[in-house]
Amino acid sequence: MSEANDTKHFDLISIGSGSAGRKVAVVLKRAGWNTALVEARVEDHFGGTCINTGCIPTKALVEAAHNGYSFSEAKEHEKKIVERIRKGTLRHVTERVGVTVIRGFASFVDDHTIEVNGERYSADYFVIATGSEPAIPPIKGINQVHYSTNEDILKLEKPPKRLLIIGGGRIGLEFGQMLHKFGSQVTIFEGMQQILPGEDTEMANALKDYLVSLGINIYTGRFVDEVKEITKENGTREFEVHLYEGENAGVYKGDMLLVSTGRKPRISQLRVENAGVEIEKGAIKVNEFFQTSRPHIFAIGDVVGNPMFTNWAAFQAGVLIKNLKKSKTKSDDWKPLVSPSIPRITFTVPELASVGLTEEEAREKYGDQVVVYKFYNKWLGKSMIVNDWVGFLKGIGIKGSNEIIGAHLWGMRTASIIQMLVLARDNGLGWKELGEMIYGHPVLAEGIEALGNNMARLTQSD
Ligand SMILES: Cc1cc2nc3c(=O)[nH]c(=O)nc-3n(C[C@H](O)[C@H](O)[C@H](O)COP(=O)(O)OP(=O)(O)OC[C@H]3O[C@@H](n4cnc5c(N)ncnc54)[C@H](O)[C@@H]3O)c2cc1C
Repeated sequence: MSEANDTKHFDLISIGSGSAGRKVAVVLKRAGWNTALVEARVEDHFGGTCINTGCIPTKALVEAAHNGYSFSEAKEHEKKIVERIRKGTLRHVTERVGVTVIRGFASFVDDHTIEVNGERYSADYFVIATGSEPAIPPIKGINQVHYSTNEDILKLEKPPKRLLIIGGGRIGLEFGQMLHKFGSQVTIFEGMQQILPGEDTEMANALKDYLVSLGINIYTGRFVDEVKEITKENGTREFEVHLYEGENAGVYKGDMLLVSTGRKPRISQLRVENAGVEIEKGAIKVNEFFQTSRPHIFAIGDVVGNPMFTNWAAFQAGVLIKNLKKSKTKSDDWKPLVSPSIPRITFTVPELASVGLTEEEAREKYGDQVVVYKFYNKWLGKSMIVNDWVGFLKGIGIKGSNEIIGAHLWGMRTASIIQMLVLARDNGLGWKELGEMIYGHPVLAEGIEALGNNMARLTQSD
């Protein structure tokens, strides 16, 4: 493994080894640049949030729960996967590609120098890719209680008896359903009127009804007013969530309190002010080339704000790499970010995968031109075969147009199936083409054939 060498000067230093920073350091190293990667937590977090405490471990647990593993079997399964990917990634970056890994927490000294563990490193270019951290809302009492975050949940040795979750977004729902499957009594509080705020309301409500039908308590429409923690005589903690008013007003008790109310860019202690890098609304301010207010310092991934997805972080890295490979300073060759379709996935079982506008957004934009069609999974042979009875696929289009304005797929393996719609949307294809191609049979993707044909018929674009 190549560690920080004596040179201490690099062409480029990425700060953060997640999907964003790592990709830039690796690809440019392969292109002949002398690159380094700084990671604060090499032993337990190399490769960033997705590999270690985000996408991979949560999905490993969700899948294991669904497949009937016990909690300890699931944990073992998850640990093995995470370790394998983390170690493989570290080996790949250092041994195979030869990127210098600097271990420790970086902070800027000036716009060409950072400090890590008392050592200074300079570079012609920097990439800030320090990711995000849980955003904790200012609920009364929150700072006096031992609340948990996604990282704490992953360290659990056994599921809590009663789990209270503040936040009905992706992270809360995924952990909630998974721990419910392992036997926890789960209660989720979402302040907005619907779970998955920002997603299609009909889809979110259908998913909520389904989760409630499984036995998960979900209360929407009131932000938690107060939380309390009581230490019992036997030393164990009991948590209380208070809703002062509304139809669900009351005091809810649990043995663990998960706060999953979103994430915010991880910037504090990075001392970006020493480099003259500006922050806007809590995120590093960048232009369409991911340049910060200092043109040789870039920022990509969660640290530049929403949406926070690993695929989006890596996509941004790709835009930056292509430009830097063309010319080291901004030139006419550089291509700005052109926003592609970003699939948004909630890994409940079944999954909810969306791309494009929600029905509410479409109606706001196109009024009564909007066309909606729903295809119920239970109508499909393969769905019956794999026991996919509950979900449905929703297409959103506009009259007289073949364009896929929005698609919301709730059902088994829709997280993979959505890619067809992403490909179509970004390449000038529409409902008609989705309906016209030949599908394997019996496969779950046949739902898209039906969605495509019916949307083409209803929008009269066929
Ligand atoms: C529970 C959970 C589940 C998720 N599930 C999904 C999912 O299913 N699909 C999906 O697309 N996205 C998912 N995400 C989001 C995804 O993990 C992030 O969008 C992605 O990891 C962002 O990549 P990044 O490179 O910007 O930052 P990160 O992956 O967070 O990497 C940043 C790295 O920088 C290091 N670091 C921070 N500050 C410093 C410093 N000053 N010096 C040195 N190192 C530093 C950190 O230790 C970290 O390793 C999930 C997130 C969470 C929390």
